[in-house]
Amino acid sequence: MIPFQYRQHALFAEDLALEEIAARFGTPTYVYSRRAIVDAFGEFRRAAGARNVRVCYALKANSNLAVIDLLAREGAGFDIVSGGELQRVLAVGGAPSRIVFSGVGKSEAEMRMALEAGVRCFNVESESELLRLDRVAGALGRRAPVSLRVNPDVDAGTHPYISTGLRENKFGIAHDAALAAYRTAARLPNLEVQGIDCHIGSQITAIEPFLAALDKLLELVDALHAEGIALRHLDLGGGLGIRYDDEQPPSRQALFAAIFDRLDRHPRGGSYELVFEFGRSIVGNAGVLLTRVEYLKRNGEHRFAIVDAAMNDLMRPALYDAWHAVLPVRQRDDMAAQHYDIVGPVCESGDWLARGRRLALAEGDLLAIASAGAYCMAMASNYNTRARAAEVIVDGRDAHLVREREALASLFALERPLPR
Ligand SMILES: *Cc1c(COP(=O)(O)O)cnc(C)c1O
Repeated sequence: MIPFQYRQHALFAEDLALEEIAARFGTPTYVYSRRAIVDAFGEFRRAAGARNVRVCYALKANSNLAVIDLLAREGAGFDIVSGGELQRVLAVGGAPSRIVFSGVGKSEAEMRMALEAGVRCFNVESESELLRLDRVAGALGRRAPVSLRVNPDVDAGTHPYISTGLRENKFGIAHDAALAAYRTAARLPNLEVQGIDCHIGSQITAIEPFLAALDKLLELVDALHAEGIALRHLDLGGGLGIRYDDEQPPSRQALFAAIFDRLDRHPRGGSYELVFEFGRSIVGNAGVLLTRVEYLKRNGEHRFAIVDAAMNDLMRPALYDAWHAVLPVRQRDDMAAQHYDIVGPVCESGDWLARGRRLALAEGDLLAIASAGAYCMAMASNYNTRARAAEVIVDGRDAHLVREREALASLFALERPLPR
């Protein structure tokens, strides 16, 4: 299904016109398609077939409770990176036994919270973290299930800010230090070694980096096996890319088939549960940011469309130079198209959403910034004391408000002037 399509020149989300959503909820508003989220997750499930695979949704891509709840109902596990994300999963009744806890800097409080909840596994990123987790678990009288996040030194071929599997990145335990770390984990009394994991980056558009990482993990699995350290699961992380422009990421089917094939050629490859931690590829293309043109202006030859969404709503262009398609919500044939930079009201030259887009535009028109389901609202801030956007999930002809637009007074409700 294509969740956002034109019907008689008007852009729809499923069976509802985006114009109606703007009239009802205002702008800027994030609009997600329920069907697109469920379908994307379902494709992973179909690709897994009868294999022992657990797809955990990486919450940080989009942590709205409605999205988490929807995926929990579809049978997803969850990949969390903070105590806050754990609370979100618990708030919708998600099963702790399906949560893996990633992240390079877990605090003691977060470890306690996760141990008390009974998460499936801690993805541990250093020897110091092993020692801390052992101590925290011991104090609670529990054994912590652990996997070590190995840095396989594989180039994911993606933007430096979202590449995580290279030696120079802060993430994981270096491949050549992993054996020693596993020996430490195996002798600590309050830890239980369960698996091995890696996550080499995001927006990966080829299969090869995943296979290279798997090969590196399997080398370690063999070395551990020889020492009598048995693992239950292999976690290959997330990172599958989506199409923003003309990228050609592998299908979920092709990625899984290649991974299964590699495992089938390993003597014990079929015996491990496989865990994945996908975020972007589940929600990225399931959302748009709906925004209205406030002003058109021209500085010399340069034309700007100043819209009511800004870098605080959608930071990816400013942060990564990311490209998002910009779609007119109503296609016009009554004026000539011009090249516009689509910019927001924030006082920064870095406040742009798209550059040099050919569009026929008038003030007051609505635009949809495409592929805005992942790492968009999740990264939104209140910079310039701007209220964060509303979020709506469309289901057929129905629109459900799943996050209210923030009230301005709430933006400074926690602040206090000094006493007079
Ligand atoms: C961000 C992250 C993911 C999800 O990455 P996507 O590119 O959104 O699939 C998975 N695992 C870890 C550890 C992460 O940090």
